[in-house]
Order: sequence, then structure tokens, then C-alpha cells
Amino acid sequence: MKNDSLIELRNVSKAFGTTRAVKDVSLEIERGAIHVLLGASGCGKTTVLRLIAGLEVPDSGEIWLNGERVAGQGAWAPPEARRIGMVFQDYALFPHMTVRQNVLFALSALNGKLSPAERERRARQMLEMVGLAQHLDRFPHQLSGGEQQRVALARALAPSPSVVLLDEPFSNLDAALRRSMREEVRQILRAANTTAIFVTHDQEEALSLADTVVIMRQGRIEQVGAPQEVYLRPANPEVAAFLGEANFIEGVAQGEVAHCALGTLPLASPMYGKVSLMIRPEALRLTASQEGNAEVIAIRFFGHDQLLQLRFPDETTLEVRTWGNAELALGEHVAVSVRGNVMAYQS
Ligand code: ATP
Repeated sequence: MKNDSLIELRNVSKAFGTTRAVKDVSLEIERGAIHVLLGASGCGKTTVLRLIAGLEVPDSGEIWLNGERVAGQGAWAPPEARRIGMVFQDYALFPHMTVRQNVLFALSALNGKLSPAERERRARQMLEMVGLAQHLDRFPHQLSGGEQQRVALARALAPSPSVVLLDEPFSNLDAALRRSMREEVRQILRAANTTAIFVTHDQEEALSLADTVVIMRQGRIEQVGAPQEVYLRPANPEVAAFLGEANFIEGVAQGEVAHCALGTLPLASPMYGKVSLMIRPEALRLTASQEGNAEVIAIRFFGHDQLLQLRFPDETTLEVRTWGNAELALGEHVAVSVRGNVMAYQS
């Protein structure tokens, strides 16, 4: 276990009947960092969180928390012994308790350690941190979705957990609130220097929140890396396609470059032979030109930008994002260039 790892999963597997939800997963969670587990529905994200929390027992493998084995090889620490905070989709606030009482309740496990006055102070401090000091005596139904979310966060953080697990915590919020809550929660976690693991299936959410993105598919981890790394250097074509829009075009690699319908492109790392080149739509630049070898065959306008479909003489098609100017029309010829170097996968 690395010195800065708070949690480590070693070859952890978990099946439910014949469904192998988590397959041989090894993962290190760094202290103080925000990790986001990202993957399609059913890929095993929630099961990984539940294994870490002690709500599921692994079939094989080990889980280490803070230098101690909490599962595997005969070891077992129950959830209450793991000092883990949790925030789930539905917040699960007690409806008959006020905001203040909801947070105090989370501190009741610390009865022996904190006096009633200290617990009261801690609850107020947490609610101040999430900006709800003025709503202490309201009941959950008197709060907006975003405010309830913040109570849930204050409650999870109040007992100073070693890590907070958040399972799709913003899924009940509308798009605008979701974005602002994301930023707010990120700042709150930073301020409290809390290690956090989020689960989401929303790529944008994962890329904007995480220090480290963990991409899962069918119970396995496909890639772990910083947001820029996983987006720009996906480990395989499946990860590339999952993380956003991606064009794949055939080419032949010759070391540092590859030849394809777009001409000769620089590669992210040297390769040889037949390859599939991954090009993000926003990495392409277009210039209207009679001599250009691509033709605009479709335009989808989104306001902030537009997606153009191009066709090359060899029938290769490509999607390109450009800002929503009206300068290019259907049937027009364009010259295409690529910004930066491109990822290639052996085909
Ligand atoms: P989602 O994004 O939809 O929440 P997920 O990636 O979190 O999905 P999990 O909830 O971990 O996925 O589920 C992984 C697989 O294990 C799924 O096929 C699911 O149906 C199955 N599964 C999870 N929990 C149980 C259970 N208690 N009993 C039976 N099958 C389960």
C-alpha cells in the first residue's frame, strides 16, 4: 500500500447469483483526492462503493482502509467501524427531523467522545460550511432539492469520516442546479480536505469533478487517470467512445505519423501497421475551400456550436464540431486539419 493511499482494493470480486458484478478489481484511493467511478448502468460502480462501505462482503480479494485490512483473508470490519460517510441519490433525510436534528443524529454515534454542547457546535459548524445556517429549524420538505442535498452532505461530513462515498448525488437535480451543486460540493470537500469517491454515469460530471477518473465496464476497471488523460489518451476505443464523441477512421501508421483520408497526422505515440485513429470532433478545424477534399453532407445546429458531417472521396465520414457560424453550407467543400496529435489503436 502506498503511503498516500487511504483505501486499497486488491483483486476484489463480487457476484450476485450468476451476475458477476465486480471482477478482479484492484484500485488505490489517494488520501484527500476526489475519485469518480464512471461507467454505464450496471457496470458495478455501486457495488464497488458498497464493498468499500462494508455493505457487501467480497467473494474474494482484500480491502484495506487506513493501513488495516477490513475485508478478506478472514478479516471483517462492519460499516460502523469504518468511519465512512455516505450520500445517496435520495439523500435519505429524516422527514420528521429539522435540518439541525438531522445533522445532530449523525453525531449521536460520537456520544461518548463529544459532549452535547460540542455536538451542537459541530452540527452548526457543518451547516454553516454548506451555507444553511439560516435554515437550522426547517424540515426537509421546506427545502429545495439543492438545499436537501447540502444537508445530506453536512450530515455525512459531520462525524469527520475518513472518506465520503457519494452515489449519483446530483441525479435528482435539474441541469443548472446540478452544475452549481457540483462546484459547491467540490469546494466543500476541498475545504474539509476530505477523501471522496463519487459514482456517476455522466461523463461531463466525472471529468469536471474528479482528480482521478476510474472507468469501469462490465465489472472491470478499464482505465484510471486524470480527467485530461482519460479523455485525450483513452486506453482503448471503448473508453474513447464512452467518454464523449469520437471519430474512428482507418489509417496506416508509420512510426510517429499515420496516413489516412485527412492526410498525414502526427500520432500521440509511435505505432506501425493498420490502425484505427481516434479524433475528437472538437479537435478538427475546417476551412471553406473549393480545393478541399471533404464535402459537408449534414449540419446539426445546437446554438453554442454545431456538428457537421463530412464525407471524403474514399467515402470516409467524419463529425466535426465548430462554433455555430452560418458560413458553411450543405454541399460545400472544406479543407480539414487536426489540432494536436491523435490516438491510434491497432486494428
Ligand atoms: P447503475 O449506474 O445503474 O446504478 P452500477 O454500475 O452502479 O449501475 P451495480 O449497481 O453495481 O451497477 O450493479 C452491477 C450488477 O450487479 C448489475 O447487473 C446489477 O443488476 C447486479 N446487482 C447489484 N446488486 C445486486 C443484488 N443485491 N442482487 C442481485 N444483483 C445485483
